Amino acid sequence: MQVVGELLACGQDVDQLRKKVLIASEKSINHPEASFEACFFGPDIESELIRTETIKRDLLDIVDDEGDGGLVLQFQPILDLPSNRICGFEALCRLNSASLGRVPPLEFIPLAEETKLIIPIGLKIIRKAFRFLRNLLDLGYTDLTVSVNISAIQLLQHDFVEQLLQSSREIGVSPEHIGIELTESILATDYDEINHTISTLRQLGIHVAIDDFGTGYSSFAREQALRVDCLKIDKQFIDSLLDDQLEHAITGDIISMAHKLGHCVVAEGVEHESQRQYLKAHGCDKIQGYLVSRPLDPDAALELLSAKARMG
Ligand code: C2E
Ligand code: MG
Ligand code: MG
Repeated sequence: MQVVGELLACGQDVDQLRKKVLIASEKSINHPEASFEACFFGPDIESELIRTETIKRDLLDIVDDEGDGGLVLQFQPILDLPSNRICGFEALCRLNSASLGRVPPLEFIPLAEETKLIIPIGLKIIRKAFRFLRNLLDLGYTDLTVSVNISAIQLLQHDFVEQLLQSSREIGVSPEHIGIELTESILATDYDEINHTISTLRQLGIHVAIDDFGTGYSSFAREQALRVDCLKIDKQFIDSLLDDQLEHAITGDIISMAHKLGHCVVAEGVEHESQRQYLKAHGCDKIQGYLVSRPLDPDAALELLSAKARMG
């Protein structure tokens, strides 16, 4: 209290001061090093806070904008290994902030989830991805799928399936061209309810994949009961293929177990030819990663498809 008194004497507003103390104490509680007990409100925390507030305002602008505000989508191709052809794209969102520049999804999606703005923003993402898909279909690429990442909060909305179907009807894309990706952590939320929704989506012909497989909550036992049709093996199992002792890699075993459960397997984050060769030799169905292409703006994605078509 004496410190507060002294600071007040320096002209600090008491509410501001209380807010700063709260923020610093929360930081200290959440600090990853348990032994770290003290945390001071300084310029680092302040600029982090300002950045967070700016992103939240940008997210509100996306929702309020009749267009999509600073929301942009890039599309990363997925390659079918046996045929060596592009069989689909994953839609990956980015935020173009007027003051912060490009903000990656790993930074702004958690804030969109925290504020629940992911519900309207997620719908904008779905509709944007469907418009890209419609474009592909119009150009004659009729054997591709476009997948969208979906947060738990979105999937748990009672009208999620209805909204998805309504958008697909309005934009003119059919369910067999649509994929959704759910991270493993989603399974920790409400397994039965989520599995029921997955089941409904599958019955409609929509593809459902578990993203980042192997890193989180799911086990093969739970996986067996899940109605998904595809597993995306997390990048860390693909990175491990670069280790010297390749004979210890379990990536091949994950692929065969997933196949036994009747799932298609996509390898994420494939960057090197040696990884592609291992995955092909072990029967992996599809790969995604910088080796094939980085995520691309819509025009560049279309250009990649037509370049591939020209090469035959
Ligand atoms: P994810 O769905 O697992 O997407 C794959 C991430 O790995 C993407 O990062 C992609 O750019 C990156 N990546 C792909 N190939 C490679 C590679 O060869 N090497 C490396 N180092 N990275 C590669 P990005 O775009 O930053 O997205 C990160 C995560 O943000 C996504 O992981 C997904 O969980 C989430 N996310 C992205 N877009 C959306 C969205 O529209 N909605 C929701 N809810 N989440 C999204
Ligand atoms: Mg994904
Ligand atoms: Mg992933």
